Amino acid sequence: MSASASRPLVPEWLTVPDDADALAPLVWPESATRDDDGVLTIAGVSAAQLRAEFGTPLYVLDEQAVRARAREVREAFAQAAAAHGAQVRVYYAGKAFLSTEVVRWVTAEGLAVDVATGGELAIALAAGADPARLGLHGNNKSVAELEAAVQHGVGSVVLDSVIELERLAVIAERRGVVQPVLVRVNSGVHAETHDFLATAHEDQKFGFPLSSAPEIVARIRELPSLRFVGLHCHIGSQIFGTAGFAESAARVVDMHAQLREGGDVPVLNLGGGFGIAYTSVDDPTPIAELAAGIVEAVAAECAVRGIPVPNLAFEPGRTIVGRAGVTLYEVGTVKPVPVSDDLTRLYVSVDGGMSDNARPALYGAQYSARIASRTSDAAPALARVVGRHCESGDIVVDAEYLPGDITPGDLLAVPATGAYCHSLSNNYNAVPRPPVVAIDGGRARVIVRGETIDDLLARDAGIAHPSQARVKEPND
Ligand SMILES: *Cc1c(COP(=O)(O)O)cnc(C)c1O
Repeated sequence: MSASASRPLVPEWLTVPDDADALAPLVWPESATRDDDGVLTIAGVSAAQLRAEFGTPLYVLDEQAVRARAREVREAFAQAAAAHGAQVRVYYAGKAFLSTEVVRWVTAEGLAVDVATGGELAIALAAGADPARLGLHGNNKSVAELEAAVQHGVGSVVLDSVIELERLAVIAERRGVVQPVLVRVNSGVHAETHDFLATAHEDQKFGFPLSSAPEIVARIRELPSLRFVGLHCHIGSQIFGTAGFAESAARVVDMHAQLREGGDVPVLNLGGGFGIAYTSVDDPTPIAELAAGIVEAVAAECAVRGIPVPNLAFEPGRTIVGRAGVTLYEVGTVKPVPVSDDLTRLYVSVDGGMSDNARPALYGAQYSARIASRTSDAAPALARVVGRHCESGDIVVDAEYLPGDITPGDLLAVPATGAYCHSLSNNYNAVPRPPVVAIDGGRARVIVRGETIDDLLARDAGIAHPSQARVKEPND
């Protein structure tokens, strides 16, 4: 099979826009607009100003957009649960984007926080988060991480294996505490972006097969240092619609009801995974509708079994921060490449790439882009935005129509980069990671500073004095 047969040169969903400067409504932060000169502004701060002050590449986060979304999501689930007489706790899944500032924003808006490693736990604690409102995940938490969780009084540890269960019991017993735990199960439902797959078994590393829950929970109930509070199930990420969640809830509620026969089961945690719009064709279900639909499905399953609706927990990450983030790049080169007899693709190279956004390289994620420093009347041209790294898969935006006169020095903005971009960033090709600035009240401030070459050299044990080892510039 030829490459073109498996993957069209232009994705089927991509159409030539009427206006290659337009900001698609659900993709950009609500505060994004263009000023009188056509320059992109985010929450009142122009991209030109951001470039002048902070350079590029630059992660930009609209603080009020994160806060408003956190509130909206919490209220949507609270209302949906209240309609069935249940309480709900919404955890922000910190792995989407974690810094002390963001932890303070979301906790101030009433969210609890999920962490998955000792490093993420340290950030949440440094932000002053209430340990009782933290959850700890991970399929291979180290003994040190479990110790830290118990020591700090982390509210719940989500168990992922029998070995971990036994380790945690010993740690909690030695420290004389009773540690609340959830049991992560696989419902057999695995969601892809627009679809879901339901199988009897899931062939992946996370959690316990659903059918093994009675045995695992019985063991927890034998151990005085652990307290079983409920099942946990997370079916995937970037999910659209309620069908996958409803199918999974049906299966998990069935087990939840069975476990109630052996003791109290106060909580049911259904994870996160709510999808966002990356391009103008993505149409995520409004969160209120999604929350109502999922809770409705849980309530219906509970009613069938004659049990009360448990207190619910959810763990959204992407949907809290994704849309609030925009990455700014500077265009370095533009290269027309004939890719077939009648198609030329404009390769637009920017000053970042897979080191600041690994998602396209990791799983073919699609993004969109706009020139941020000006508008243009030039006819739209099929473009691929690529980075500066030594990989042909170093793609930022796989396919987008950009004004055909795009040129070196233009600022390019990629929206919907608030989630899983900074958190997946890396130093491939010894490229320092960009800073993150938050915009609020018409001002931008650094919330995570950018790396310098000295930061990179500082870790190289072969250099005694990194600053002296720098190559001298001619003017030094
Ligand atoms: C990643 C993850 C989440 C968050 O997923 P989003 O798609 O960002 O909402 C929640 N829970 C668990 C267990 C996860 O692994």
